[in-house]
Amino acid sequence: MKKYILPDMTWPEIKEALKTASIAIVPVGAQEQHGYHIAEGCDSYRAKEFSALLAEECFPKVLVTPTINFGVSPHHMDFPGTITLRPETLIAIMEDVVSSLKHHGIKKFLFLNAHGGNSAPLGVAAEKLARQYEVEIAHTKFVDAAKQTLREDIDSEYFGHACEREISECLYLAPSIVREDLIEEGDMNRDAFALNYMKSDFVKVVYQFNEITNNGNIGDGRKGSYELGEKIIQEALTNLAEFIDDFVEAKRE
Ligand SMILES: [Zn+2]
Repeated sequence: MKKYILPDMTWPEIKEALKTASIAIVPVGAQEQHGYHIAEGCDSYRAKEFSALLAEECFPKVLVTPTINFGVSPHHMDFPGTITLRPETLIAIMEDVVSSLKHHGIKKFLFLNAHGGNSAPLGVAAEKLARQYEVEIAHTKFVDAAKQTLREDIDSEYFGHACEREISECLYLAPSIVREDLIEEGDMNRDAFALNYMKSDFVKVVYQFNEITNNGNIGDGRKGSYELGEKIIQEALTNLAEFIDDFVEAKRE
């Protein structure tokens, strides 16, 4: 049986796996509101399940760490249940994960992120830790590896949170967290200053989610489907598995 999920393995199994595995995937999610229709663990479930599929594809080169189930989500705090890390906390967690696994011989890392709010802190962590610990680190918001499907199959003006994209991914990866009978379109505040600049290619405005949407979601989840989820996940898997092959082989010294 293939074994690559660290929390499901014993130390002798891990010792054996380290003979072929040279990269650790670290799934990073969030605990934050996702409208009326997706449970708040959405990003953690997606990070965890996608990482397992990617590791299966890349066996026996990779191991997967426990999922980091909290993310940097201050922009969702106006909705009940969201728990946010400070950016500094996430960077500190990544440091402790990297330094621990380096101790066990892992020198390459992929931070596999499922939540936009984590991207900037994970970028800082990667820059800092790669140099400080002399390891190689890559980081991805994994749906970015499915650009073609997103471009061709999604037509909402705004999407990216509890939308058709995210519902589709959940229907494919973790269907039990979707409330299919409650799916509705994002109730957008069309006049919101932050919304007007959301798609700007020259400036980013820090905002709260309740400024731009009343029900917590954007896009139109009613257009989501298992089939769209499968297409998104398969495109991202192909691209990231190819990346891992290159990353593992790369001799960069
Ligand atoms: Zn999400």
